Amino acid sequence: MIFETLDTTGHEEVVFCHNKDAGLKAIIAIHNTVLGPSLGGLRMWPYKSEQEAINDVLRLSRGMTYKNAVAGLNLGGGKAVIIGDPAKDKSEALFRAFGRFVNSLNGRYITAEDVGIDVNDMEWVFRETSFVTGVHQVHGGSGDPSPFTAFGTLQGLLASLNACYGNEDVGKYSYAVQGAGHVGMEFIKLLREHDAKVYVTDINKELVQRAVDEYGCTAVGLDEIYDTDAEVYSPCALGGTINEATLERLKCKVICGAANNQLASNAIGDEVSRRGLFYAPDYAVNAGGVMNISLEIDGYNRERAMRMMRTIYHNVSRIFEIAKRDKIPTYLAADRLAEERISTIGKLRLPHLGVTAPSFQGRRGS
Ligand code: NAD
Repeated sequence: MIFETLDTTGHEEVVFCHNKDAGLKAIIAIHNTVLGPSLGGLRMWPYKSEQEAINDVLRLSRGMTYKNAVAGLNLGGGKAVIIGDPAKDKSEALFRAFGRFVNSLNGRYITAEDVGIDVNDMEWVFRETSFVTGVHQVHGGSGDPSPFTAFGTLQGLLASLNACYGNEDVGKYSYAVQGAGHVGMEFIKLLREHDAKVYVTDINKELVQRAVDEYGCTAVGLDEIYDTDAEVYSPCALGGTINEATLERLKCKVICGAANNQLASNAIGDEVSRRGLFYAPDYAVNAGGVMNISLEIDGYNRERAMRMMRTIYHNVSRIFEIAKRDKIPTYLAADRLAEERISTIGKLRLPHLGVTAPSFQGRRGS
């Protein structure tokens, strides 16, 4: 049954990690290592069933292959999940047991933070393996990726404006930013530096007030965000916000934001394209976070990180070009770009077998 699934999804390896004493039940999925060792975060979630956990780790690891490929990284896609409640089930033993499994893969999978995991949990993992990114800055880690993700989102926006309007005049247009969290607030700050008009909403009223007071945004209701006259809709909260109900209401020309999985379905992506909207694919736009942690592998450097974010401009521009050339929606063009890169580079070298394990220069032990 599982091999049948793996035939379809194309995964290379799935590891079930179990340690009774530590209470560890984890799954590591390595989707594709053609471009390099697989990199993707660790998620901790109280999955209702093992099947649900398997489905999630397979879906997420495959997504990382595409994200890392489009980002131009020499990294493949992988992901890990721990079955458990992050509010109740965390312990040193749990994360160290997980770290040992990661270490046993000898660099074929590199872990990082994802939902339910923070930098303190990574400290435990780091005790057992160096194949971990997103560690604390005291160990030579990269720290909070959000400002980089926001700057990368701005690069994606410049490319989108260029594709849609033929100019990159950020301040000339208005924006509906949904979510003023870690990334959203930084993005708002960048937009306001260009004097752009920004509508903002968030379920957290304090954040909305901050956006109004500090950056001069216009506050709108949670549902009203879909009805503004903004030229750009920028989802920076949750996924699935572009769906049948909201698409009808959007008056924007461009969709560009940091949230993951913005399209509720591929059919919605087709409809977005049919309506002539310029949708910048989420995983190309928000790659700043993964780019930032990837730099820990050969020695983190902030300046290199900022330079790397600028490549998002070229990646997103390329996606718009492919979409135009092949007359396909941009979400498909992004997938095509990823597949083309994996295929071309794959012909140059063999799959990464962990022989030349990543070096992690410049990092100090825990
Ligand atoms: P965050 O939790 O700091 O911010 C999300 C904000 O959205 C919160 O303030 C929350 O109150 C708000 N929100 C939740 N539901 C909402 C709703 N229905 N309407 C309006 N606001 C709502 O998270 P973040 O780190 O800023 O990430 C934002 C998005 O970007 C997420 O989808 C995340 O997966 C994605 N992303 C983040 C990074 C990063 O570097 N942090 C990297 C890649 C992708």
